[in-house]
Amino acid sequence: MKKLINAPDAVTSDLLSALSHSDNRLMIEPDNRIVLRADYLTHRDSGKVALISGGGSGHEPAHAGYVGKGMLTAAVAGEVFTSPSVDAVLAAIRLVTGTAGCLLIVKNYTGDRLNFGLAAAIARAEGLKVATVLVDDDVAIPAGKSRAGARGLAGTVLVHKVAGAAAEAGASLDDLTIEIDAFIPLMGTMGVGLSACTVPAAGKPSFVLGDDEVEYGLGIHGEPGVSREPIATADAIARRLVETIVNAKQISAGTSVILLVNGLGGTPPAELSIISGAALTACHSHGLRVQRLLVGSFLTAIEMAGCSITLAIASDAVLERLTTPTEASAWLPPLMPTDGSNAVAAPKFAAALAGETGPLANLATQKIFAAAARSACNALIEAEPMLTALDAKVGDGDLGISMMRGAKAVIGALDKLDLAHPAAALEQVSNLLRRNVGGTSGPLYAAFTLAVALSLRDYGSALALSDWSRAFSSGCRAVMDLGGAGKGDRTMLDALLPAAEALEKAASDGATAVEALTYAVEAARVGTDETASLDPRFGRSSYVGTRAIGHVDPGAEAVTIWLGALPGIIVNS
Ligand code: ADP
Ligand code: MG
Repeated sequence: MKKLINAPDAVTSDLLSALSHSDNRLMIEPDNRIVLRADYLTHRDSGKVALISGGGSGHEPAHAGYVGKGMLTAAVAGEVFTSPSVDAVLAAIRLVTGTAGCLLIVKNYTGDRLNFGLAAAIARAEGLKVATVLVDDDVAIPAGKSRAGARGLAGTVLVHKVAGAAAEAGASLDDLTIEIDAFIPLMGTMGVGLSACTVPAAGKPSFVLGDDEVEYGLGIHGEPGVSREPIATADAIARRLVETIVNAKQISAGTSVILLVNGLGGTPPAELSIISGAALTACHSHGLRVQRLLVGSFLTAIEMAGCSITLAIASDAVLERLTTPTEASAWLPPLMPTDGSNAVAAPKFAAALAGETGPLANLATQKIFAAAARSACNALIEAEPMLTALDAKVGDGDLGISMMRGAKAVIGALDKLDLAHPAAALEQVSNLLRRNVGGTSGPLYAAFTLAVALSLRDYGSALALSDWSRAFSSGCRAVMDLGGAGKGDRTMLDALLPAAEALEKAASDGATAVEALTYAVEAARVGTDETASLDPRFGRSSYVGTRAIGHVDPGAEAVTIWLGALPGIIVNS
């Protein structure tokens, strides 16, 4: 068991103590583990009904997160997955109940029912006005199959909200009880678990699921569900959950509903979003009108992965209760779904070189240009496994794939490049790299090629070696300007800069293009090899620090690879 806790038996008290320090809108009664609105005394005297909920801990942010104006007056926290005692509930009732009375919102579990029930009976015997509502929104177990009745699940949070808004609006205890007793049967919840959870005091998961198994219809206490099945797509899971609820609650097409997609504690927000999109689609396929959507981890089962879906039939009155503001910290304002017609078209880019396409290349040069681009790209594609392995050692392992993606994009667009105008063609390459490479290399290569293009544009109609070498240097400067690195910083510049220097020198010495490129590749190789002994200061290698020493910089290696593919092309053409 690996958890950010101090000790398994200190979880509940540490949680309460954290709450008592972190939110000045709350007050804590530590002996009975009660969390109260800070203004509970004023509220008690206000003539408004008090609301108490609670249950075992392990469902955070429930229930303490729903304490606040417009939701609960107090929450009572038991040990993890264990109902609070009669005395703790009774203490909460005595603290918050004024003349208007108090409503206990109880999830239908035997322990909660008995402890809250007896506390209510004792309080009534003491002369306090106390009523109880039982939440039983689970539809996993067919009605009548369990004598204990359906369990209370994430729908409980909707009950907190609806009851909280009604109490705040001044409803009497009788009216409130009638309203909530009518609302509860309009809700259905069904869950799916992808992994079990570990109660800290037990130290072991409550059940074990295979890598490709999910459990449908589980509760929120780590108990297994009603059926174990192979994992399916988010779409299929959402369809299944929605269909079960629609059938169990006989929700007919055209009905207005609230959709609550609840994470069970170990579900990343992205997965919750995906499943909520799928659930919306499933609701629409049943003809339901989803008036509001709630997505978040509202009522959890410690670190269980998975989610539950709740559908609540929503009258206008219920919608109003749901959308009035509350100060409870864990409530998220419900979203209003759209019909999907809110897509915006991407803006069109104007080419920087439009109308200024620079010097012309003859057919021979065009062929060389295309062959050189293809060969440089193929070299990068071939080197993908090596670059991936190298970047995995010193960075995050994505460089090989990023370079390959860029290379494939360029090869795929070769016949669309404006090869007659090398400057324009390179600008097209820059656009392709910018859109396809990503990471750090993407913008740097895009800047490099754009600067080369802009530099070439300024030279005469017949591009000489010196024009190309000056353009190459201008590309290097763009990389330095954008990325802030220089020579010796253990980046691609440690290959690019020596190559640029060699090109410029060869051009001024009157060397041929093949000679110049050969010198450039040699210089890049030396510069790349030297990076193995340099301390990284830029890019992700800087996070691994001296552990990178002994390996060459992957970005520099990549430069040497594509540059190394060029001399052969020029020789053969
Ligand atoms: P990341 O995954 O870190 O976003 P990539 O994997 O796309 O980046 O590229 C990593 C390479 O980028 C490094 O090996 C290095 O050569 C190069 N690099 C990182 N930062 C810079 C910089 N500021 N200037 C030039 N090159 C850089
Ligand atoms: Mg990387």
